[in-house]
Amino acid sequence: MIDKTSIRELKGIGDKTQKLFEKLGVSTVGDLIRYYPRGYDVYEDPVPISEVEEDRTQTISGAIYGRVQVSGNAKMQVTTLYVKDLTGTLKVIWFRMPFLRSTFARGGAVTLRGRIVRRRDGLVLEHPEIFYPCEKYGDRLNTLQPLYGLTSGLTNNAVAKAVRQALDGMNLAADLLPKELRLRYGLAEYNYAVRGIHFPEDKEVFFHARDRLVFEEFLAFILSIRRLKDKNEKLANEYVIEEKPETGAFLQGLPFRLTDAQQKVWKEIGEDMAGETVMSRLVQGDVGSGKTIVAVLALLNTALNGYQGAMMAPTEVLARQHYESITRLFDTYGIKVKVELLTGSMTAKEKRRAYDRIECGYARIIIGTHALIQGGVNYDCLALVVTDEQHRFGVKQREAFAKKGSVPHVLVMSATPIPRTLAIILYGDLDISVIDELPANRLPIKNCVVDTGYRKTAYSFMKKQVAEGRQCYVICPMVEESETMEAENVVDYASMLQDELGGEIEVSYLHGKMRQTQKDDIMDRFGRNEIQVLVSTTVIEVGIDVPNATVMMVENSERFGLAQLHQLRGRVGRGKHQSYCIFMSSSKSKDTKERLGILNKTNDGFKIASEDLRLRGPGDLFGIRQSGLMDFRLGDVYQDAKLLQMANEAADELLNSENDWMKNLPDYEGTSSVII
Ligand code: ADP
Ligand code: MG
Repeated sequence: MIDKTSIRELKGIGDKTQKLFEKLGVSTVGDLIRYYPRGYDVYEDPVPISEVEEDRTQTISGAIYGRVQVSGNAKMQVTTLYVKDLTGTLKVIWFRMPFLRSTFARGGAVTLRGRIVRRRDGLVLEHPEIFYPCEKYGDRLNTLQPLYGLTSGLTNNAVAKAVRQALDGMNLAADLLPKELRLRYGLAEYNYAVRGIHFPEDKEVFFHARDRLVFEEFLAFILSIRRLKDKNEKLANEYVIEEKPETGAFLQGLPFRLTDAQQKVWKEIGEDMAGETVMSRLVQGDVGSGKTIVAVLALLNTALNGYQGAMMAPTEVLARQHYESITRLFDTYGIKVKVELLTGSMTAKEKRRAYDRIECGYARIIIGTHALIQGGVNYDCLALVVTDEQHRFGVKQREAFAKKGSVPHVLVMSATPIPRTLAIILYGDLDISVIDELPANRLPIKNCVVDTGYRKTAYSFMKKQVAEGRQCYVICPMVEESETMEAENVVDYASMLQDELGGEIEVSYLHGKMRQTQKDDIMDRFGRNEIQVLVSTTVIEVGIDVPNATVMMVENSERFGLAQLHQLRGRVGRGKHQSYCIFMSSSKSKDTKERLGILNKTNDGFKIASEDLRLRGPGDLFGIRQSGLMDFRLGDVYQDAKLLQMANEAADELLNSENDWMKNLPDYEGTSSVII
């Protein structure tokens, strides 16, 4: 079967390219076909020159004005040209292409597409693609060119070419969806859909193709949940956990009182864990609603009952932070329960020691990353696992525990609030608790959306906040091309900002390419206020809790999804001080302003995300990362809520029908794991 064929069989893929593809998780032709584009480049209508926007790829069309000039030295020749339309004139430059001098006729009409960049002498169109004569652009207009996730050494063109080859060589696959179902929901046929998602002729084809694939992905996911739910419901509770008086005393001792919502959820968890069947519960609560403490109570109570509890965090930084805040709390309140940290970056020796303490049962609460469920770990009596939705504790892991004779309680935390109807579909295997209230001591965050001219003012504002003892985050401009470039960007930005703010203030940075120990060190120092300003990529987005930080400044905020900005905003406003969010935007477009303005109007994460979609222009539709909720390959819970409901309906029907069609459906293979 072609699906399992190695990509080596494709023309043009040798050892080196094969290795690069492997980095992207692509080793077979089937993988390649399912390596869907991350976005599309849309060749849109030319814009009037007076309306070009900095930092965007745009097309202009106009008359060649004056003469083509070539300057610079032999190594770096720069060709310059001016183009004029009814609204203005724009400078255009190319590097190392002196031969262009003889290409253009003065006064001729030309269409150019490229990036608009700000230089000393104003906005410049840099190194654009040339359509000369203009009519040539007509063929491209409105077409979608796939953009793939890349790794350095592999070009977009190389991936596109390989995909095209794979598709051409693919035999027509049988459609897994029954025809009646397809027709009823107006879904495209499978073979059409895979071609359409990679190389759509236009937007209509794209949507049609995508809908079909998303539907199928959701359906497989829902069916797998339903199957597991059936298996799950009868699992007996092997670890009956009663509430211990020490847990109550610990709660009394905390510097704050639980909100009513936290109390309600804590009670639900308590009842589950003391009940007859094993707990599978989701706790939903917006950023800052105080989910961690609820999890800590459950872990502590488990430990006090003589069992072990584990908490799995999505990043090492976060795992370490949880570990430290829990040990600190326990020290403060004299709680003698051994808390253990286990992460992938620990040395082999450190890990071995941790394994020993976990295996003999000395370690009672174990905090970590994925390392918690990897090979070497054997638990003594694991009774509770707390995870976040990003890696819902998978079927396989729980089965592995079950095989060792125990089925732990599971608590899943989610910071992405979604309406109950959707939650029931997505988390059909879980009971749901909602923390729908923020602690009372919070001042609402003040937001502003500003253009880049405000940057200096923002810096002096940060300076003042630091003078008052506070701390700030700056999220660096997004770099789409590669993680390496993103890293460089963060480093440069931090050094620029250090110069700007002066030596009194400690500026540091954080990005995905840093070694774990470096990241930990930076976070520790930020936590202790030895660093006042932290420049970062979005790695800071998940869960970090530094209540003393009061400013969140986001560069290029127009390139982020609003739901993501909402998560970033959640990093401040976590303490008693007034906090501020500064969304910097280089876009002058009214739509962008309106879109970002939503963040001012509401604090409701779901409302924000759905408004975001309503207002997004067609050119932005595919580029921006969406909810980030449960990592589906294509589907997005917010954007595709309708398809999710449809797939749910279809699942009901399929499960009730006599049809043995389900036998043909492959197991759900997506990255969103499900719980049993
Ligand atoms: P999230 O729900 O985003 O995970 P956290 O659990 O990190 O939020 O809590 C955010 C901050 O609020 C933490 O500093 C925590 O100590 C504090 N907090 C939690 N519950 C309360 C409460 N009831 N009253 C006051 N502060 C609280
Ligand atoms: Mg949290």
